[in-house]
Amino acid sequence: MPEFKALLEGYRRFRTGAYQEQRRRYDALADKGQAPGVLVISCSDSRVDPTRIFDTEPGQMFVVRNVANLVPHFDPDPTHGQHSTSAAIEYAVTQLKVHHILVLGHARCGGIKASLEGTFDNAQPGEGGFINRWMSQIAPARDTIRAAAQLSPDIDACSALELASIRLSIDNLRSFPFIAAAEARGELHLQGALFDIAEGVLRVLNHDTGKFEALSVDWESEPVQVPGQLKAV
Ligand SMILES: [Zn+2]
Repeated sequence: MPEFKALLEGYRRFRTGAYQEQRRRYDALADKGQAPGVLVISCSDSRVDPTRIFDTEPGQMFVVRNVANLVPHFDPDPTHGQHSTSAAIEYAVTQLKVHHILVLGHARCGGIKASLEGTFDNAQPGEGGFINRWMSQIAPARDTIRAAAQLSPDIDACSALELASIRLSIDNLRSFPFIAAAEARGELHLQGALFDIAEGVLRVLNHDTGKFEALSVDWESEPVQVPGQLKAV
């Protein structure tokens, strides 16, 4: 099992390297608990690790990862299955009191592609049925984009659905009463972004224009601005 061996070797490097360098930080986090300011909802895809993309330290980000970085619509009925993502969102917002929720999508998402191509349509659990049921959350957007792509074959349907699903997840976040209330009080801000694996480009949703805009990496000429907000960070 060379893959698992590589993990254990990585742990040794971590313990003798980064862990030693950040020992004080880890000790403080163990004593005082975590107080991350940001909840990130990202895909389980092994190529999209938010702690790497945003170069964060331990304790900075609370992360939920699932297939295609989806947020389900608020559903208080406990008989509708286990609400894993909703539980993590509830904890981050009501207990940790994060100030931002970022839905981080990515290019070339397998879940989005499967939805678009109907790979697991009518599949049984164990054969793609769970994926199909999970991805059915974006079925209306998928159907709209499929129809548009039939009329205009030059449309990049996968990219369009990747962006649409981020917008939909942000809309679904607002269906949680405690999120809508925190946002109305100005204590919580909802953000969207898409990471392009091949280009390394991060496109951030500008709430003013409604568009995803590539973030410049030039520190000298362009200070980082939070799109749709006045204050620089
Ligand atoms: Zn993905």
